[in-house]
Amino acid sequence: MMPQIILLGAPGAGKGTQAAQIVEKFKYKHISTGDLLRQELAAKTELGKEIAAIMEQGKLVADDIVFALLAKNCDLTSGHYIFDGFPRTIAQAKALDEKIIKDYKAVAIYLDVPLKELIARICNRRVAPKSGQIYNLISKPPKRPGFCDISGEPLIQRKDDTEEVVKNRFQVFQDTIGPIMDHYAAKGLLHKVDATIDSATTFQQIVKILEQAQS
Ligand code: AMP
Repeated sequence: MMPQIILLGAPGAGKGTQAAQIVEKFKYKHISTGDLLRQELAAKTELGKEIAAIMEQGKLVADDIVFALLAKNCDLTSGHYIFDGFPRTIAQAKALDEKIIKDYKAVAIYLDVPLKELIARICNRRVAPKSGQIYNLISKPPKRPGFCDISGEPLIQRKDDTEEVVKNRFQVFQDTIGPIMDHYAAKGLLHKVDATIDSATTFQQIVKILEQAQS
C-alpha cells in the first residue's frame, strides 16, 4: 500500500513540480490547498471574495476554511494522496492526522532549499493555469516564450509571486514550519530531501522514500 504523502517545503521549493512527477509515476491524487483556494478566487465565489485580500498579501487563510475545502476534495478510501501546501499550521497538522489520515500509512517529505535560492526561483516562475504546467524562465523556459508547451495557452505570473509578496510568504513559512517539522519528526514520519540540485535528482530521492515506506 502506497503511503499518503505530506509534501512540505517553502514557496518555490518545487512541491508542484515534484507532485506532478509522483502523480505520473505512482498514480497519486494531488491536492494543493493553494490551487483549491485559487480556484475559489477565479470563480469569484463568496469564499473567493473573502480570501482574496489575505492571499494577495501572502498571509495564511483561516485554518477552518482551508480544512473544509481540503476535506471536501479528498477521499482516502478511493486512492492515495499528495497533500501539497497543507498543513501550514500545527492545528492543520493535527486535523489532517486525526480527521483525514487516521490509520493510513503516511510520510512527510520536506524539500530542503536555502532561502536565498528560493527568491530567484519564485520570481522567475511562470505557470499555465489550465494545463497546470510550471516553468522557470532560467532553468525550465517554455519553447515558445510566454506560452505553454503542452496547451499553447499564455503563461502567467501568479499574483503572489512578486518580490514584495514573496517576502511575506517566506516570513510566514519561516514562522510556521518549525513546529510542523517537529510534529512529523516526533512521529518518525519526516524525511528531508535535498532539493537544490535539479528536479530529477530530487525525484529520485522521493522515489526511494516511497519504495522504502511501501516495504
Ligand atoms: P501555495 O500555492 O501553497 O503557495 O499557496 C498560496 C496561498 O494560498 C498562500 O500564500 C496562502 O495565502 C494560501 N494557502 C494555501 N494553502 C494554505 C493553507 N494550508 N493554510 C492557509 N493558507 C493557505
